[in-house]
Amino acid sequence: MDGKTYQENLMSMCASGQHDPTKKYGIFGILMAVVCFPCGLICLFKDVENRCVRCGAKV
Ligand SMILES: [Zn+2]
Repeated sequence: MDGKTYQENLMSMCASGQHDPTKKYGIFGILMAVVCFPCGLICLFKDVENRCVRCGAKV
């Protein structure tokens, strides 16, 4: 299986709705967590997105 086929297999998984989600923290949330520690941690956990690592779509 070469690289191109591998890539296409991954993309077809995404196309059929089988994404590979990862948590992505927003800049605002991270800043708040540092500046207003520990209360800012609430902002950090609210400012989080689940995004697919392969195609970047929100999941
Ligand atoms: Zn995806």
